[in-house]
Amino acid sequence: MSETLRTIKQSRRGLMIVLSSPSGAGKTTLTRKLLAEHPDMTMSVSGTTRAPRPGERDGVDYYFLTKNQFSDMINEDEFLEHAKVFDNFYGTPRGPVETALGEGKDVVFDIDWQGAQQLAEAAADDLVKIFILPPNMRELESRLKTRAQDSDSVIAKRMSKSEAEISHWAEYDYVIVNEDVETALAELRMIVAAERMRRRRQLWLSGFVKSLISGA
Ligand code: 5GP
Repeated sequence: MSETLRTIKQSRRGLMIVLSSPSGAGKTTLTRKLLAEHPDMTMSVSGTTRAPRPGERDGVDYYFLTKNQFSDMINEDEFLEHAKVFDNFYGTPRGPVETALGEGKDVVFDIDWQGAQQLAEAAADDLVKIFILPPNMRELESRLKTRAQDSDSVIAKRMSKSEAEISHWAEYDYVIVNEDVETALAELRMIVAAERMRRRRQLWLSGFVKSLISGA
């Protein structure tokens, strides 16, 4: 491919890639691996009122906010979407997402079905919704326990909410069953590659085809 073609091919609309799953389905690992392979992709860092887990860093894993800070952000319309998940509030800050998309970057969102629905109302054209399922519920529970960052009662609560989260699988464009992380990653890679190739996202094409026909 010529250098010029390579340059103009970069002019495409950024994707908004939503990954939802019940807790413990391996979404965080998959997301990290996907981002490591795509330096041009950025992760949306959510705001939350839940307390940090051991090892979580403010501004990296989440912006840890008080309830007052969270409601101020709602009032200032600073969230692209926000929802109550379990007993805490979570929201996607609008600014960084708009900046990244404006630069043609893809943005990955680790949000629940409520957030996915809200983004679909706001930006359906740029949205790709992917649901990650565990191979079975035993596996889900054991992953939650291995993670061991939550107390037993929190784990039990999360397990009971898993079914509710899973019941929204049919609202998604793609579903990946994460039995083996490398296979699931390969599937995720294919989805991203195909979605990037969609005609309407490749803004450079009409100019290219014009010059192709005119023989320039
Ligand atoms: P956790 O507390 O385990 O990090 O996340 C709990 C759930 O909240 C996960 O399903 C996660 O996808 C969801 N979540 C995290 N950030 C956001 C957000 O900004 N908006 C919405 N709607 N859900 C979120």
